[in-house]
Amino acid sequence: MSDDLNELYQEVILDHNRKPRNFRFLPDADRHAEGHNPLCGDRYTVFLKLDHDIIREATFQGAGCAISKASASLMTEQIKGKTVAEARKYFADFQQMLTTGKADEDSMGNLCALGGVYKFPMRVKCAILSWHAMLAGLNGEKAVSTEQK
Ligand code: ZN
Repeated sequence: MSDDLNELYQEVILDHNRKPRNFRFLPDADRHAEGHNPLCGDRYTVFLKLDHDIIREATFQGAGCAISKASASLMTEQIKGKTVAEARKYFADFQQMLTTGKADEDSMGNLCALGGVYKFPMRVKCAILSWHAMLAGLNGEKAVSTEQK
């Protein structure tokens, strides 16, 4: 990856940490789940509003490190307006990117900004936390922890 691209991606993370998108309570959410990463102290609740199998709204609230917050912000942007099946596919692709560093930039878009996280195993849990919460919500669960047995 070129230095320019690295800088661009860092800018995306900083921007989403400073001004997280969809960072609000969703009163008419029909799914919500809390994600907790005890290793870092990140804790977020993801709210979803479904219209049959379309995710109409995706928001989040909570607090944590810059990586976890930027990832949650990017996640809500990515899945809004998508189908549940597409959101599950994004989860799988995102998880793969965080383990291998490989991503399809065409489909992942801004999520590629978090591609470098795979070099820092401790931070992978920060990046994937809100995604686990989103998946838990889709599965009808209320809470998920990165340290689940
Ligand atoms: Zn964290």
